[in-house]
Amino acid sequence: MIILGGNKQLEQLVTLQKLDDEVKELQETLALIPGQVEKSRQELETKKARLNRLNTEIEDLKKKRGQCEQDVKSENDHMLKAQQKLPSVKTNKEYSALLAEIDAIKEKISSIEDRELGIMEALDQKEAEIPEAKQEFEGHQKEFDEYKARKDAEAARVQGELDAANKKREDMAATLDPKLVSDYWKIFSRRDQVAVVAMKDGICQGCFQLIRPQVAIEVKSSDKLLHNCHSCHRFLYCEAEPAEDAESAVPK
Ligand SMILES: [Zn+2]
Repeated sequence: MIILGGNKQLEQLVTLQKLDDEVKELQETLALIPGQVEKSRQELETKKARLNRLNTEIEDLKKKRGQCEQDVKSENDHMLKAQQKLPSVKTNKEYSALLAEIDAIKEKISSIEDRELGIMEALDQKEAEIPEAKQEFEGHQKEFDEYKARKDAEAARVQGELDAANKKREDMAATLDPKLVSDYWKIFSRRDQVAVVAMKDGICQGCFQLIRPQVAIEVKSSDKLLHNCHSCHRFLYCEAEPAEDAESAVPK
């Protein structure tokens, strides 16, 4: 980039601003990475939770099935005892009562068996869902591991670039007049990390205020003086446009 006026200090300020822009961008990129990894990890947790939920449901159903089996067994024992009493019964009334008790036990067993059947159907359904849920989780686990490795590598690379950019900006700042650096910092910290801006068509590109015509001319031509926007106080420079160069190169 060529700056009109050829002001050396201004060129250095523009370079410093560009380095700060680079540092800011790298910091922003770096700051995004943990959230990106976390988002992917949460997706993985969702898949894992589905699989865990299915397994818990299956365990629960198996316990219920086991309980049904036990209940049937105990009712069968109960019925056997009742049946064994039959030959020793003395009266018709007692006999009828015992038969009624046996019938009631049979009904109870039948109802337990119905419940067990329902549980087994539900169990089959849940077990059938396992392979897909497992595959989905394992597939995502693999994707996540790869994504995380990629993001870790990216973070390391960006951190390296950031360190290099920081070093470059420190070296650059060290070559400048300390008073100038201090002014730059004041504006930089108060004006959204932008201390040096271009002036285009006489307008400050930082705050979009019209620069006074005399100042605008000096920004374009002065090789010694620095100018600041009267409104946002940022340092102003004017970039030479390639078209303008070509035109001025043509003799009129
Ligand atoms: Zn301004």
